[in-house]
Parts: sequence; C-alpha cells; structure tokens
Amino acid sequence: MVGSVAAERPVREMDRRSAAATSAVEAREVTKIFGGGQDMVVALDAVSLTIHQNEFFTLLGPSGCGKTTLLRLIAGFEHPTDGRILLDGEDISLLPPFRRPVNTVFQNYALFPHLTVAQNIAFGLEMLDRPKAEVRETVARVLRLVRMEDLAKRRTSQLSGGQQQRVALARALAPQPKVLLLDEPLSALDLKLRKEMQIELKRLQDETGITFVFVTHDQEEALTMSDRTAVMNRGRVLQIGAPREIYDHPSERFVANFIGETNFLAAEYLGRENGRARVRLASGAVVEASLPDADPRPGPVSLIIRPEHAGLVADPAKAVLSGRIENVVYFGTDTHYHLRLADGDRFIVRRQNTRDGGVGFAPGEELGITVGDNAAQILKD
Ligand code: ATP
Repeated sequence: MVGSVAAERPVREMDRRSAAATSAVEAREVTKIFGGGQDMVVALDAVSLTIHQNEFFTLLGPSGCGKTTLLRLIAGFEHPTDGRILLDGEDISLLPPFRRPVNTVFQNYALFPHLTVAQNIAFGLEMLDRPKAEVRETVARVLRLVRMEDLAKRRTSQLSGGQQQRVALARALAPQPKVLLLDEPLSALDLKLRKEMQIELKRLQDETGITFVFVTHDQEEALTMSDRTAVMNRGRVLQIGAPREIYDHPSERFVANFIGETNFLAAEYLGRENGRARVRLASGAVVEASLPDADPRPGPVSLIIRPEHAGLVADPAKAVLSGRIENVVYFGTDTHYHLRLADGDRFIVRRQNTRDGGVGFAPGEELGITVGDNAAQILKD
C-alpha cells in the first residue's frame, strides 16, 4: 500500500509542475482608460501578469485600484484601451463574453428569486442547449459539490445569504468553465460565515481544478485562500507572490502597509557583513536586517518590523529600542501594545496571550523593545 502511494507521488508532482508552468490567463501591458478630458480615469496602467492553470489567484488592493476592471476585461464585459488578454495562450481581447470559457460570480449573486435552486443552476446550461439528461446530471453533481442537495427544490428567495452564495457558486461552476472569476463574493456575509466560505472556496477550487481569479480588498482573505496574490494600487500591479512571500518580503512601502500591520523605522544602512545588512537605529543600537533585491547605498533607509517579531522587556537597557506604552488593546488570542518611541515614532508589539496570563504591561510603563533575528527588513523606497 505504502509502495503504491510512493509510486504515485512523483507523477502527481510532475502533473502539478507542468500545470503550474502553463498559463491560464495572461494580461500583457493592459491599459484601460474610462472617459476623456477632465473626467479621464486610468483604471489600469500597463498591467502585465500571468495566472497559472489550477491556481487560486487573488487581485488585492484598495477601493478603486482597478481590480474589478481587470476582472471585467478577462470576462469580456470591457475591452482594453491598449494591450492584450490571453486565455490558454490565445488572444481573446476582442471575443464577446459568451464565447469565453470563463464564468463570473458576482458580489450580489444575481440569482432568479422566483426559481428554485435547481432551476437557477439549470438555467445557464439550458441556454447553452445542453441535453436534458446532461443538465439533470450536472445540477445534481454541482449541488453535491456545494453540499446543497437537500435544498434543490427551495426557491432562492427563501435561502440565507450563505446558501445563496453556494447556489451562485454552483451555477457558475456548472458549465465547467476553464476560469472562474469571483468579484468580492464573500463581502455580504457575516464574519463567521465568511471564514467558513473561505475554506469552502479553497476546497471547491482544489476539487474542481478550475483556475480561480478572486477579487478582494480584504488582505486576510487573500492570505488565507490564494496560491498567489497580485497587490494592486492606482491601476498598477506592485507585487505578485505567494501569501508568505508578500507578507514576509513586501516589495515596497505600500505593500508592507496594506498587508498586515507593520512598524516603519528610520535607520542608517552601514553596509554588509557576512551577507547580512547592518543598520543603526535612531536609538544608536546596531541590528542586522535583511536586504531588498539590490543593495542600498550606505545612508538613510526605511526599516520594517512586523509587530509579532518584536518583544517587550522590563529593562530598556537590555533592548535595542525603548518606548512608553500608550495603549493596550486586547484581542483574545493576542494583545497589541502601542508604544511611543523617544523620537516620537509609534511602534506596535504583538504578544500572544497564554493560558497563565503571562506578564502584562500597562499604559505609562517605559519598556525595552527587543527585535528577533531576521525580523528587521530594509525596504525598497
Ligand atoms: P472596488 O473595490 O471599490 O470595487 P476596484 O479596485 O474594483 O474598486 P474598479 O472598479 O476597477 O476598482 O475601478 C477603477 C477605477 O476606474 C475607479 O477610479 C473607478 O471609478 C473607475 N471606473 C470603473 N468603471 C468605470 C466606468 N464604467 N466609467 C468610468 N470610470 C470607471
């Protein structure tokens, strides 16, 4: 038994590698301009990216950064002002939406309230003239997939928000699109349901093997579900990478700030020693830091330190920085200490709460801030 599993593994990994090497969707230098004159909006500014087959890919960025516009260009609801959109290597920039093997799940679900769950799912397949038996079989299959078999005959107006979301997903998956586009599909759900649906969506993507392109402004959604994420701002893609890569090594200040909480510190780059950068903090302490791709020139740099990579000690003499606690915010799993440093900068330290309560600190206390190995990172400004 063990032998057969081991024998299968290299084949599966080869499959995954070759799938990862094939692009499902490509945007090449895509620009989209709306309006003209004073009302002109550059929604996308020469955006290039490649989404691999079988990938859960997320477009993440603040409101108005161009995420939905890019999704609509892939769907065919808009056409690029410049540049090209490719699907499986073929230019589809001018193909109408119904000729693209792509389906969209919208924010508002767009279900027919007077039809049953099964009729809603069947509708699109009937429009495609699929044979009756095939429609029946597909409806049953996707209902199983989204775990809604028991509600097939219920009208969609009689469903909860989470159930409607599942029907919208089932309907979009039914014609077996090559690419499923999801435009903030979880935003109408409450927090607990949203978290459940995040896991559910990932499962659906794994089980169907369909390429998912997911739009959100919620960094947690992007980090928990995606194979890779593109962080966007003002019509441009700033960084593309796996969640861990983007969180641990943000390419620039905007990305560091947008994904998770970050402390920014002014520091002086002293140079490299044994492959590690050495920087002097405003306190005078010298610490090691990791470098961006290119070595900066010796002189002023910005440093980032994530709140969970710093610690607090009662004796400031035993730490590289010191600060006074201004606020203590309790989050259940952890506590955030907001400190004011001597030079006026703010600094947040996050400490996990333990069963025994650990050593707590109170506002007004002057404490030392320790910085873990590999915690500080020089930012490309
Ligand atoms: P949100 O998260 O708020 O949906 P987004 O990142 O999806 O934002 P887009 O909807 O892609 O942003 O919009 C990008 C920019 O293009 C915005 O400034 C928006 O106002 C503008 N825009 C989008 N569609 C149109 C349109 N049809 N006509 C004019 N401007 C538009």
